[in-house]
Amino acid sequence: MDMQTSFLDRLFDSGLLIDTGVDGLYGRSGQFEDVISAFERLIDTFGGADGAEAIRFPPGMNRAFFETSGYMKSFPQLAGTVHSFCGNELDHMSLLKCMEVGDDWTKDQQATDIVLTPAACYPLYPTVAKRGAIPENGALYDLQSYCFRHEPSKDPARQQLFRMREYVCMGSEKHVTDFRQSWMDRGVEMMKAVGLDVTIDVANDPFFGRAGKMLANNQRDQNLKFELLIPITSVANPTACMSFNYHQDAFGTKWGLNFADGRVVHTACVGFGLERIALALFHTHGLDTKEWPESVRKALWG
Ligand code: ATP
Ligand code: ZN
Ligand code: MG
Repeated sequence: MDMQTSFLDRLFDSGLLIDTGVDGLYGRSGQFEDVISAFERLIDTFGGADGAEAIRFPPGMNRAFFETSGYMKSFPQLAGTVHSFCGNELDHMSLLKCMEVGDDWTKDQQATDIVLTPAACYPLYPTVAKRGAIPENGALYDLQSYCFRHEPSKDPARQQLFRMREYVCMGSEKHVTDFRQSWMDRGVEMMKAVGLDVTIDVANDPFFGRAGKMLANNQRDQNLKFELLIPITSVANPTACMSFNYHQDAFGTKWGLNFADGRVVHTACVGFGLERIALALFHTHGLDTKEWPESVRKALWG
């Protein structure tokens, strides 16, 4: 049995995660959720004074916006779409027959107007674009959403439906890169406060295919993505628990995000992987929060 399986099994045995029979799709106990709530309050204490506008989208987004985002160009392997039965009574009969004999009953499902949200910030850009110009001194948003990625795994830190808390900043290049740097500093400080060992490293997204390799190399060379890493299932390969992304003017151009005089805005987003942070805490301090070091409990629960 490898290390990953055993941490997952310990999480199941302790009841912190609940097996659904699908890798990467888990229920969570009250104690697990308490840790996530407490950590989100800690995020609020670090980011709360910045005056971000809080917005919460459901875990599905407008398919048309998803198509415009270009997600299928970059990450077709990760996307999840919502399909439904749209037939008549006759179609229903054949659907039930199909299920009865164990044939594939899903092939006649039709695409709906909803796709699963791949990252908390995706629904934001078209929403903000619709409102009009971005103020000269920039705009800041506070988001949290369940996100879907089709990457089934036995690694409890790689889930298919997980929560991402994000701050998204729009404005000048200097404004959004300062924002990103300040959260890199805050991230290190926050994790230290809860007793986690962290490193920050340059990173890239897993762009699909051969052309994707070039996008990934370009992203690295230009320092567009950093990750805050914490050992969870492996010390040699620590897990990304936060990411810090600078999109230059790519999203501004794509969505028509402009200042009043027409200049395209730059954007950056900072994401917290909430399940990963909770798992890092359980892995580091043990599976029972009552046994966690006093300083950690104090940072989380006051
Ligand atoms: P990884 O390299 O581990 O796949 P990522 O680069 O795909 O991570 P981002 O797209 O930057 O991650 O997402 C923001 C944050 O969401 C990550 O820093 C991580 O904490 C969290 N996250 C990403 N994918 C998952 C997942 N499958 N399960 C749980 N959390 C995730
Ligand atoms: Zn984002
Ligand atoms: Mg990934």
